[in-house]
Amino acid sequence: MKRTIKEEIVATCKRLYEHHLNGGYGGNVSVKDEGLIYITPSGMPKDTLEYSDIIVMDFKGNMLEGKGKPSSEMRFHLLIYKERPDVNAIIHAHPPIATGFSIARREIPIGIHEEATIVLGDVPVLPYAVTSSNELAEEVAGAIRKANAALLSNHGAITVGESLEQAFRRMEELENLCEMIMVANSVGEVHKIPEEKLNELVTLIKNRRKG
Ligand code: 13P
Ligand code: ZN
Repeated sequence: MKRTIKEEIVATCKRLYEHHLNGGYGGNVSVKDEGLIYITPSGMPKDTLEYSDIIVMDFKGNMLEGKGKPSSEMRFHLLIYKERPDVNAIIHAHPPIATGFSIARREIPIGIHEEATIVLGDVPVLPYAVTSSNELAEEVAGAIRKANAALLSNHGAITVGESLEQAFRRMEELENLCEMIMVANSVGEVHKIPEEKLNELVTLIKNRRKG
């Protein structure tokens, strides 16, 4: 199997830790490549993993490489890959500010910040479900059919992407957005970008990024 993919997962876990987006024993990261899933092991601090800790599995759930058990959230990783063929990487983390929003059941309004609107789109807040349960897997996979990021109530966040880099940038943007909303609420109130300006802005930035 590919060592480079395992190394990218390890590097992403360290990056999440260093950016205060995940800590302790929480979170999990996976990549889909050539019909296989590379995923972090369960119950280990993710910032100190080594490439040889990464588990490789097939879509039937058979373990092909790695030590220990695969992530206890493997079910939602598998479901998402089955339902979103465009997704090649998934990050689940416990970023403190975004998780605080999930505890407060605060909806994240769309169209309040230009970068976040483009990078994230809509971010649903899912009803509470116990960690690692089938119920959580179904809630998460259902939300990710239509979104690239979601908050898991009293638990954390998930982002997906065509690449690990894109999933990481979405997690970073989600935490930044929640912090911006928190600051806005502490000094005043949240105002949306006017609808007609938002459409103009989205077209402008999308065209700029194509070139
Ligand atoms: P795992 O270590 O089993 O991946 O679990 C961490 C977690 O965040 C569960 O939601
Ligand atoms: Zn978790």
